[in-house]
Amino acid sequence: MIDRQGGRILIECDSCDEVLDTETGEFDEALALMKREGWSVRKIADEWLHGCPSCGAPT
Ligand SMILES: [Zn+2]
Repeated sequence: MIDRQGGRILIECDSCDEVLDTETGEFDEALALMKREGWSVRKIADEWLHGCPSCGAPT
């Protein structure tokens, strides 16, 4: 899931407790960083789910 803290976007893994601090408030930048870091994003039942590099794509 996506969380915002103090204007920064945090990506939280939906399968474990891993959190990626993107250090940006721009959604596009956050998404680009997320992909560079090997995170996956999948839309399931109208909800965006996020997976860290260890967990892989959410199912
Ligand atoms: Zn994970």
